[in-house]
Amino acid sequence: MESTDTASVLTGGCHCGRLRYEARGTAFHPTICHCVDCRRIAGSPCVAWFSVERNGFRVVAGEMRLYASSTRAERGFCGYCGTPLTFQAHDLPDEIDITTASLDEPERVPPLDHTRVARRLSWMRFADGLPAYPGSREEGLARKGPGGQG
Ligand SMILES: [Zn+2]
Ligand SMILES: [Zn+2]
Repeated sequence: MESTDTASVLTGGCHCGRLRYEARGTAFHPTICHCVDCRRIAGSPCVAWFSVERNGFRVVAGEMRLYASSTRAERGFCGYCGTPLTFQAHDLPDEIDITTASLDEPERVPPLDHTRVARRLSWMRFADGLPAYPGSREEGLARKGPGGQG
């Protein structure tokens, strides 16, 4: 486990409290994802995420269960209460996405954009002034790269 700046450690966990995690290092790509997979898995119109380097994430209590939500990604959740916690794309092995709302202090990592808004529910409207990308952030920025959530 790589040691990183402890001042920037983020802590969080599931609803029942059995699963706890720490995320160290710089949080990046905080977003609100509107994709159908996130919607179904969370039972929520959209899901806020942020990313850290994979080796900065550690489960410190409980055991995370993994679910292959597609051929290209696995999602981690509490096997007891079901809280969605992580997203790991196989083609991005060095980073992990974490559900912002599972943080103890979600206000520390506010979203900076919306992604997959092509799938946004019509009644889910925002006036936060943030950039909104029809697909992934990378596509939105016209850069080459893999997608965001999946
Ligand atoms: Zn739980
Ligand atoms: Zn998504």
